[in-house]
Amino acid sequence: MKSTSVKVLVGRDRTPYIISSHLLEFSAYFRALLSERWMLLAREEDDRDSEEMLTVSIECEPDVFEHLLALLRYHSLRALPKLTDDEIFRLKKEADFYGIEVDDTPFSAPGDEVDDENDESKISSPTSDPTLLVKVTDNPGWDCELCGNNVWAVIFYLGYAFCVHCGNDAPKYKQFAHIMVAALRNSPVMDSHHDRMNAYLNGRPVFISDLGRSVVELNESIATYEETMLVTVTVPRCHCRCLASKPSWVVSLFHRHALCASCKRKLDHPRMLPLIFLAAARNAKHVPKLHMECYFRRGEKKTSPRPS
Ligand SMILES: [Zn+2]
Ligand SMILES: [Zn+2]
Repeated sequence: MKSTSVKVLVGRDRTPYIISSHLLEFSAYFRALLSERWMLLAREEDDRDSEEMLTVSIECEPDVFEHLLALLRYHSLRALPKLTDDEIFRLKKEADFYGIEVDDTPFSAPGDEVDDENDESKISSPTSDPTLLVKVTDNPGWDCELCGNNVWAVIFYLGYAFCVHCGNDAPKYKQFAHIMVAALRNSPVMDSHHDRMNAYLNGRPVFISDLGRSVVELNESIATYEETMLVTVTVPRCHCRCLASKPSWVVSLFHRHALCASCKRKLDHPRMLPLIFLAAARNAKHVPKLHMECYFRRGEKKTSPRPS
């Protein structure tokens, strides 16, 4: 995604802030919003003045927004002036809403002990996890325009959502941001996903009710049950229309959905689809390890280095 300045109009008075998109993209909310806006702009005519600055409005009050900016920049509560418990409570709600990740033990009450040894899987934000897919259901008023259903699957990492019934992958931008935020709030899904991944990594059995039995690792015959997992593959002779030089495909085996990681277009090519699904299924057993490494790398920032 290009890095440029964005004008954010904040609060009732629409106080303008000029902020680099790079900084804003540490917020899942803004990342979704901006990527959608840029896609819309790109679809418009080229004769549009490219100097024009992207402008977005948010309802947050300016003093809160400034705290959020500090969190975006430093990822730490230590970057903030001393706040009362009530202020911290409100800030926590806002940071949750905007999908902003904080590296410190986030907003814990005094006395909350965090066990660093066992909490790697909880350190990561879902937005930094390339293998995670979260489903959102029954968001009132946000039905799929094509089929009328209301079940969306969200890939935070790519800022992408699709209807699980018809595969429609172009929700309107307002709808998209709404779906994204709803998915971010769906934390039990992410936690259980992380727990299962951790179990696979350590060879611990996980009982899968759909299969009626326990499994100890992901492999091609069982990976299709794992609803929250995405697999990325590169397949010889499967090229995207965007002509990305080495296209990688992001695949949900469960939802039978594949998209190009470069242009985020849904793949519906009859010859390439089966090849790509097959490659993803064969690759599935490698995913939990990669997945957990992504957490461990993050964990190392604040815990002692772990042997590789
Ligand atoms: Zn649909
Ligand atoms: Zn593409």
